[in-house]
Amino acid sequence: MSASADWFDRARKVTPGGVNSPVRAFGSVGGTPPFTHSAEGAWITDIDGNRRVDLVCGWGPLLLGHSHPEVVEAVRETSARMMCPGGSTVGEVELAEEIAKRVPALDEVRLVSTGTEATMTAIRLARGVTGRNLIIKFAGCYHGHSDGLLAAAGSGLATLALPGSAGVPEAITSQTIVVPYNDLEAVRAAFAEHEGQIAAVITEASPANMGVVPPAAGFNRELAEICHSNGALMICDEVLTGFRTGPAGWWGREQQDSTRGGWEPDIFTFGKVIGGGLPVAALGARREIMEHLSPNGGVYQAGTLSGNPVAVAAGVTTLRLADAAAYAAVDAAADRVVELVATEFQRVGQPFAVQRVRNLFSFAFGDGAALGWSGKDEFGNASPINEAEVKRQESFRYPAFFHAMLDGGVNMPPSVFEAWFLSAAHDDAALEQIAKALPKAAEAAAAATA
Ligand SMILES: *Cc1c(COP(=O)(O)O)cnc(C)c1O
Repeated sequence: MSASADWFDRARKVTPGGVNSPVRAFGSVGGTPPFTHSAEGAWITDIDGNRRVDLVCGWGPLLLGHSHPEVVEAVRETSARMMCPGGSTVGEVELAEEIAKRVPALDEVRLVSTGTEATMTAIRLARGVTGRNLIIKFAGCYHGHSDGLLAAAGSGLATLALPGSAGVPEAITSQTIVVPYNDLEAVRAAFAEHEGQIAAVITEASPANMGVVPPAAGFNRELAEICHSNGALMICDEVLTGFRTGPAGWWGREQQDSTRGGWEPDIFTFGKVIGGGLPVAALGARREIMEHLSPNGGVYQAGTLSGNPVAVAAGVTTLRLADAAAYAAVDAAADRVVELVATEFQRVGQPFAVQRVRNLFSFAFGDGAALGWSGKDEFGNASPINEAEVKRQESFRYPAFFHAMLDGGVNMPPSVFEAWFLSAAHDDAALEQIAKALPKAAEAAAAATA
């Protein structure tokens, strides 16, 4: 029995499902999740001594790779001086300044510890500012696990949502309206049906929690316009995309593109990269909106560990190292991996779509024309544009692909509905390892049966 299997048995006796976050349990791919012993750069080593290239990268935070020496040193230096002083420290100001400098569409940020807290607070703030209750979210977008955002679409368009989890009261999800992604007509219909009652639309800047599903060109701009003409706020959730897809997040990337730019959300949320692997998240907005938060305004929010100096040191150091060269390295690694995977799928005759925004991507399995996918990917393949389309893929192929990659020395996200994460540390040696593992994995995917 492997050491990981042994520890997983022990874990299941003291922790539900043996994990502290559900997707880690390998529920959708089967098998025993490896327990990590150490990780460095692009590589992760489990307690059985298996060393693999990591395409999870902490689920996004590790833009520079695992345990970058300067980030480790900042954590060491700070923690030796203080761990949790309970009052203000300069690092909090430095991190807020760094974020505001990169994202000129916001003036102030409030630091919290998780993305869940950031979006939960953003929604409370939007309600406090507008004096309205209803929220629109898109099916397949993930914004953390607060009650009102664990909502599933009801039967018709623009209807109030049903609970997406046991333990969430209908009284709470009835304040959320769930509509299909990339569907502005559905958003307009919801505003028409609930005139004067919608506080905000919350959207991932570019969705990446149902696999990657790019916003159609102009979608975010139109969405902002619909919100603003109806007196509602737009909450742009960049917890995953922020400072990963570009120096100013996915919002920043769209502003450089004339077919997409020219919009501002009212509230941003960030997480993942801004903590560099430690727990930091944030919400940010223009001053007149942020004024509503306590202690200045009437919208309450607080946190014992908010702006923790050790976590903030990891975040500030990560952002300062995330320069143009770092983004160019991640983008180039993404180009290469997409090309390698596509080439292997084509070689074995496995139909696919690549779902991609810059350095963030995933692959969907199946013949998109037959499955009714209505988008187009960079190879001219039909690709899914919303959750209903994404779910129609041949997801039974992914466990075979996943385990062949794992056996070939590549640590993949353990679900077909997760993005693949690269880092600036994914160098030629790491890409070589991926190239070596791919032929068998592509064959396993093509041979898989439902
Ligand atoms: C990860 C994520 C969250 C939740 O962040 P946690 O730190 O896991 O609570 C919220 N929104 C998006 C878009 C995410 O990817």
